[in-house]
Amino acid sequence: MNCLTGERIVILGAGVAGLRLTQKLHSTLRSGEATVTLIDENPYHQLLYKLHEVCNKEYHEKDIVVPLDRLVKNNDVKLIQATVESVDVESNQVQTSEGVFPYDVLVLALGSHTAFFNIDGIKEHSMTLGNYDQAKEIRERIKEIFEEAGKTGTPPNVVIGGAGFTGVELAGEMMDWFPALYKEHELERNGSLFTMVEAYSSILPGWNEGLVKNAHAYLEKRGVELHLGDPVTKVGERILELKSGAMMEPDLFIWTGGVEGDPVCPPGVQIRARRIIVNDHMEYEGHDNLYVLGDMACTVNKEGKSMPPNAHIAMIHADVAKHNIVASIRGNSSRKYKFQHMGEVVTLGKSHAVGELLGIKLTGLPARIVKKFIHLWYLISIGGIKLALDVF
Ligand SMILES: Cc1cc2nc3c(=O)[nH]c(=O)nc-3n(C[C@H](O)[C@H](O)[C@H](O)COP(=O)(O)OP(=O)(O)OC[C@H]3O[C@@H](n4cnc5c(N)ncnc54)[C@H](O)[C@@H]3O)c2cc1C
Repeated sequence: MNCLTGERIVILGAGVAGLRLTQKLHSTLRSGEATVTLIDENPYHQLLYKLHEVCNKEYHEKDIVVPLDRLVKNNDVKLIQATVESVDVESNQVQTSEGVFPYDVLVLALGSHTAFFNIDGIKEHSMTLGNYDQAKEIRERIKEIFEEAGKTGTPPNVVIGGAGFTGVELAGEMMDWFPALYKEHELERNGSLFTMVEAYSSILPGWNEGLVKNAHAYLEKRGVELHLGDPVTKVGERILELKSGAMMEPDLFIWTGGVEGDPVCPPGVQIRARRIIVNDHMEYEGHDNLYVLGDMACTVNKEGKSMPPNAHIAMIHADVAKHNIVASIRGNSSRKYKFQHMGEVVTLGKSHAVGELLGIKLTGLPARIVKKFIHLWYLISIGGIKLALDVF
C-alpha cells in the first residue's frame, strides 16, 4: 500500500458508514495530517432503521433524522450539502451539484437504492421506502387513499410487495395505524387490513424458521393477508400481475422487494449481488485510494457468501477503512475486514418483534427491548448521551 501524503479525504454519503468514518477520522487524525470533506445530498443523518415508523400515526421527525451539523461540528471537517453526480478515478475528482471536488482518498458510502429487478412497470407504479422523503410520501398517500375511501365508503386496497425485513417492519406500522384510519373515516372492514405479496414461500426469507413462524402468525392474527411464493411479474396503474396468474387492483402498491448499491459508482467497477466488490481492506481492487463502504460494498462471510447489507456491517466497514486510511497516512500496516454477525431484530409494530442476538432467539418483549437498546447504543455512538436524551 502506498504511503499517502497531503491527504484530501473526501467521503461521499453521511449515512451509517460515512458518518461513522468521518467522526472516527476526526478524533484520530492529528492536526495537519489531512482534511476531511463529507458530502451528502441531505442536511441530516437518517436513522433508516426507524424509517418505517413514519408510516404510523405516532411519528415525530426528530425520531427519524438528526441534523448533520449537530453530529459533525468541528471546522476540521468540511460538511457539504450536494448531490454526487459522478466519480472520475483517473483524475481523482468527484462531480457534484455544487461543483467539482478533487481528492487524494475517496470513500464511496452512498448507501443503496430500491432494486426493481426489471419487473415491467414496477418503477413507474410503485412507491418505495428507501429514505425519509419517500417515507413521508407513502404516509401522505396513505392518508389520501383513506380520505378518498371515506367518501365512497369502500376500504382502500393496499399491497406491499416484498415480505423481507423492510416490508415486514412497514407492515407492522401499518397494522398499528390502519385501524385508527378505518375509524376516522368511518369505514367498515370487510376483509384483511392489507396484503403482502412475496416471491419466496415464506416471509423474512433466510431467517430462522421459528422466528418466521412467529412473525407470520402475528401478521395474520392482526389482519394482514399473506400471499406467498408468487413473484410480481407486472405492475400497471392500479393493477398487479403475479406469476401464478393472480391479479390484484391496489389503490397503493409499496415495493420493498430488495436493494442494490447506489448507482453513482465509477465506470467499470466489478459488481456482485448488485454491489461493488471490494478487497479485505475495503478498497476497490487496484485503487488503494478508493474505499467502498456500507450498502455499496459487497463483502462476504466465512463461507464466501455475500452478506445482505445492514447497519452493523456498514459500521465494521467504516472501522476498517478508518484504520487503513490512517495507516496509509502514517505508513503503518493495514487491517482486514472480518465478518461478524451480532444478530438482527425485526419489529412488527409497537407491540411485537422477533429477532436474534448472539445466537439467542428472541420474540415479543425481549426482542423489543433489544431493538430499543440497539437504538440507544447507536444514538450514543453518533451523538453522545445528549443526543440520546433528546431523541430516545
Ligand atoms: C427502511 C429501512 C430499514 C432498515 N432497518 C434496518 C435495521 O433495523 N437494522 C439494520 O442493521 N439495518 C437496517 N437497514 C439497513 C441499514 O440502514 C443500511 O444497511 C445502512 O444504513 C447502510 O449504511 P450506508 O452508510 O451504506 O448507507 P446509508 O446509511 O443509506 O447512507 C447513505 C447516504 O448517502 C446519501 N446519498 C445517497 N445518494 C447520494 C448522492 N447521489 N449524493 C449525495 N448523497 C447521497 C444519503 O442521503 C445517505 O445519507 C434499513 C434500511 C432501510 C431502508
